Amino acid sequence: MWETLDQAKEEALGCTKCRLAEGRNSVVWMDGDPDSDLMFIGEGPGFHEDRQGVPFVGAAGKLLDKMLESIDLKRTDCTICNVIKCRPPNNRDPMPDEIDSCKPYLEAQIKFIAPRVIVPLGNFATRFVLEQKVSISRVRGQRFEKFGAIVMPTYHPAAVLHGGGEDSPTARGLREDFESIRDLLAEAEAKVQATDEPQEGTQQALF
Ligand code: SF4
Repeated sequence: MWETLDQAKEEALGCTKCRLAEGRNSVVWMDGDPDSDLMFIGEGPGFHEDRQGVPFVGAAGKLLDKMLESIDLKRTDCTICNVIKCRPPNNRDPMPDEIDSCKPYLEAQIKFIAPRVIVPLGNFATRFVLEQKVSISRVRGQRFEKFGAIVMPTYHPAAVLHGGGEDSPTARGLREDFESIRDLLAEAEAKVQATDEPQEGTQQALF
């Protein structure tokens, strides 16, 4: 398949593999820093994202920025992408065949970026990453391991905007989950360091 992230991006930008290519203005590839350890995955582009070619720039994106700020992070400290790269008409849910067609691009993003912590936002991204038909309200805030990363699903920021605002249980859950992101990053870093340290048995074998 592709040997680099740029090769995957180049193909995505001209992709016509599913019907969503017909109505799009942009293929919304990704935002942030591909060298970062933290990846957020949303559902798909909306109106503003399609216009600007950047994920999470509408109202939900502003809330995501605010949540990042609350834990002293910025967009450049993470990568932000979506399950599907083109906007479904009238922001409808992506269909299973569209998700299947787009799947290799997100798989390539995860493979080449190799984040240590993945935060799927909402049902579609969580089901993609966990490969299970789970409900976000049941698994949010829990930890899983997938793609060599710690995975912690949480609500999509749009669910807060459409589900009662900042004092709603959804908003409280989202805040709570964001508060644990720094701990997850520290945990992932400690794991990598432990793996990098030479094992006692290995040292003995060398002498
Ligand atoms: S949604 Fe994905 S598979 Fe469909 S046209 Fe866009 S990039 Fe291609």
